[in-house]
Formats: sequence, C-alpha cells, structure tokens
Amino acid sequence: MLNRQGRPSQAGDSGLHSIKTFTGNRALEQVEPLLFEIGRLEATGVDLDEPAAFTPRLGGLVRKDGIGLPGLSEPETMRHFVRLSQKNYAIDTGIFPLGSCTMKHNPRLNEAMARLPGFADIHPLQPQSTVQGALDLIAQLKDWLKELTGMPDVDMTPKAGAHGELSGMMAIKAAIIAKGEAATRTVVLVPESAHGTNPATAALIGFTVKPVPARENGLVHVDDVKALLGPDIAAIMLTNPNTCGLFEKDIVAIADAVHAAGAFFYCDGANFNAIVGKVRPGDLGVDAMHINLHKTFSTPHGGGGPGAGPVVLSDRLAAFAPLPLLEKNGNSFALCESEKTAEARGAHPYGRITAFQGQMGMFVRAFAYMLSHGADGMRQASEDAVLNANYIRAGLRDLMSQPFGDKPCMHEALFDDQWLKETGVTTLDFAKAMIDEGFHPMTMYFPLVVHGAMLIEPTESESKASLDLFVAALRDLAMAAKAGDTERFTQAPRLAPRRRLDETLAARKPVLKWVPPTPLSEAAE
Ligand SMILES: *Cc1c(COP(=O)(O)O)cnc(C)c1O
Repeated sequence: MLNRQGRPSQAGDSGLHSIKTFTGNRALEQVEPLLFEIGRLEATGVDLDEPAAFTPRLGGLVRKDGIGLPGLSEPETMRHFVRLSQKNYAIDTGIFPLGSCTMKHNPRLNEAMARLPGFADIHPLQPQSTVQGALDLIAQLKDWLKELTGMPDVDMTPKAGAHGELSGMMAIKAAIIAKGEAATRTVVLVPESAHGTNPATAALIGFTVKPVPARENGLVHVDDVKALLGPDIAAIMLTNPNTCGLFEKDIVAIADAVHAAGAFFYCDGANFNAIVGKVRPGDLGVDAMHINLHKTFSTPHGGGGPGAGPVVLSDRLAAFAPLPLLEKNGNSFALCESEKTAEARGAHPYGRITAFQGQMGMFVRAFAYMLSHGADGMRQASEDAVLNANYIRAGLRDLMSQPFGDKPCMHEALFDDQWLKETGVTTLDFAKAMIDEGFHPMTMYFPLVVHGAMLIEPTESESKASLDLFVAALRDLAMAAKAGDTERFTQAPRLAPRRRLDETLAARKPVLKWVPPTPLSEAAE
C-alpha cells in the first residue's frame, strides 16, 4: 500500500497490523516523510519583498540557480520536527537501561540555570572582563571535580568522554616525549573488556595496542599486567568499575606496578557514577581519568553531543594540560591562551584539544547538579545506582545467566546468553522484543569478552515501581523465550514504526544524500 506521499506504509506491513488506513497513519502515530519530500522548492515560509535592484559584488561567483532547499511554513516545520520527536525514545519517556551509558534523569533545575542569560547569551570571544562569573563557575566546577576525584588538576576542555581520553593520552604522550622516551615507549596496554574508544584513542595518536586478558572472574589480574610491563610500555588504560559492572580489586597493585615500570595509568572514568563520594581515583594511583559530565553529572547526552569530558590529571601530567589554562589573579579570572606565557610559568601544554574553553552549557548543568545534591546527595546517588542495579540482578538471576557468577555488581547488571541456548532466540531478538514492551533495549554484545552480553544499567533515577515493571516485563519475556514462543522474538519489534533494519548495510553503505525519486510515470516507461 502507498500512503499519501507515495511511499509504502510501513506500519501496515506488520502481520499484527493488518488494518490498513488511507493515509498510512495509525491513529495518532503519524507517518513522517523527509523535509525534502514535504517541502516545495518554489515556496518559502516567509514573505520577503523582492530586494531593490542592486549590483552584486561577487563578480562571476554569483549563484545562478536555486539552492535546492525545501520551503515550508512555520506550522509545517513545527509539525515535522514534533512528529519526529514523538517517534523518539528518551530518558523523559521511560527507563533507558543502556549499560555503561548512565542514562539518568536530567534535572530541570539544571536546564533553568543553563538558560540564565548571563550563561546562555555570552560569547567565547567576549572580553574576559565581561564573563568573570562564567569563568568563576568553571573554576568552582574544577574544584569540585578535583575534590571528588582526589586529583590535583583538571583539563575542562574536552567535549566528550572519548575526547577526554584523547586529551589525557596526549598529555601522557607529551610527558613521555619530555622524558626523552618517545622512541621506546610505544605500547599501550588495554584490557579485552575495554570500551572501543580506549584502543581507538591509543591507536589514533600512534601507539601500538596490546590486549590484557580478562580472567574467569571478569577482572584484570595484576600478574597479567606485570607479565606485559617493560621499557616499551607507555601506559595502561583501565576502566573502573569495569564494563562488566565489577570493581577492579587489584587496581592499586596495578597502578604501583605500572609506575614502577615507568609507565602511566589512564583510567576510563565513564563508570564514575558507581563510586562518587565512595572512592577517589587519585587515591588509587590514577594519572589521568576522564569524567563524562553527561553520564555521572546528569547533563543531557544529546545525540552524540553536546557532551563534556573533563579529564583529571595527576601531578606528573598537570603541566602538560592543553590550552587554555584558567588562572586566578586575586579576585579575577583569566584564560591563558598563549603557549609562551604558559611556558614562562613552567607549564608545557601539549597544544589544544578544542577551540575556546569547553562546553559552557554543560558546565552550568553539572555544577547545578552538584550544588543541588551536595556531597551527601551525590554519594547517595551512587549508592542508589548500585542498589538499583542489584535489585534488577536479583529480580532476574533465576531466569537469566550471569557470566561471572551470582555475586553483587556495581552500577550495572551483566547477563549473557547461556540461558537462551536451544531457545532459538538470540540476544538481539530479546532486545528487539523489549521494544514491543515499550522499553529501550539494554546494551547488547558489549563487553566483547562476554558471549551475547546484555548489560543493564538502571541508574538511581528509577523508582521502585519503575524497576518492578521492568523486571516483571523481562521475566515475562524470559519465560516466553524458554517456553518456545520464538515468534515473539524473531519477529520483533512487531509494534514499532519500523521493523528490523539492515544495520550492517546502513553502516557500510550509508545513504547521506536525498535524491528525488523517479516520478512513477517515467519509471513506467
Ligand atoms: C561512554 C563511554 C566512553 C566514551 O564516552 P563518550 O562520552 O560517549 O565519548 C568511554 N568508555 C566507556 C566505558 C564508556 O561507557
């Protein structure tokens, strides 16, 4: 069936949805074509008078044909984007249990603070004397991050966790170059359970990556690290709590061994939400660790940005932090943007990782979160995050298998696909069936060391009622899988606007440009 726009109406394809509608819409769920399909080249949303005759000053470069952008009126534009937003799943619509991503509630207080004109309407090129309040806020946020991590310095500029990894590792590389060891220290150790950004970061700046095996218990053993250490090792990148939701018990011994071998200890701090107010990474021997403000400190994730990934640095690395450097002179703040000035003060910035000072809007939100929670509130948030993850683990452990045995986890509960053996249902099928139940799936097939991994992180935001419904729904699904109701899984999602998409094809051959369809009349010829 073709809908109004001449496209096959997807929702009608489902066996369950055999009822056809003229428009292709299904009750209040609207089909939404692309802007290019609903817009008209000859129309525009605004009425502007024809400009009076003028002589263009672009010489022969004046555009002679239209720019090909679709014209829409304001109501058409509003409907388009609101309809798209209604197809979206967000932390504001339900539990978003993506493991390792810490999809927690974004408090509205943070949003209100970030919209204050004194923060929202300033420009990075304004004279610094006119943005003293903003610089003061950055300085205070830095102090809180140093306090919470027990680290002496923090580079605020990176704009994501992966960006923070890059900045921290570039500081490490600068320190190695300064010691005259750049030619020998070329290898970075990365545990097999690490997030893909860790090896990617190390490789991007020219290091060779060597994997550290994970033991049967899901942890990195200090002996395995020691066996790999030598004069060629630049650093280790270790995540704690790790991506299996477990605390790396050997971490202090690993840090000592790494330092004794003359290498640096990079900690991936994406899972900091499990330990805020409980453990200070600085006490564990960490040299650099990024903090995802959009995970631990509740700022929005925003579709791949705008995040913020400040990276805390030890005394051994602080001098290599990138520009700009935030300085306090008496009662006023200044951003040092010059390598020369920094050098004169004994710093050796490796360069810069981004334009300007970082993600101001995220800084305001994270700071508002910290102030509204206080030290005790942040500690409780971490405790509740761990409690909620264990509540889910306890609610599912009789039906779903856990790869490292039945023992407490940190902020996320990890299951594998052992229990699905012989059911004809895969981890992917199970996740797709969760969509039919109105849930965003958990993280799947990560960490890579666990076969068919399902990593569930509820965060502290969920109420007991919300957790109970989630557990009950997953129990119902698990029992259906074991009872042989395979269709509920292999056909899932049956109720979503789109069914299974060819994700491999989409990744390998992305269609990034809209091309007008051949009119039906021409196609028929
Ligand atoms: C999220 C995450 C990252 C990357 O952080 P981004 O902010 O998404 O760039 C790195 N490591 C781990 C373990 C993560 O969960």
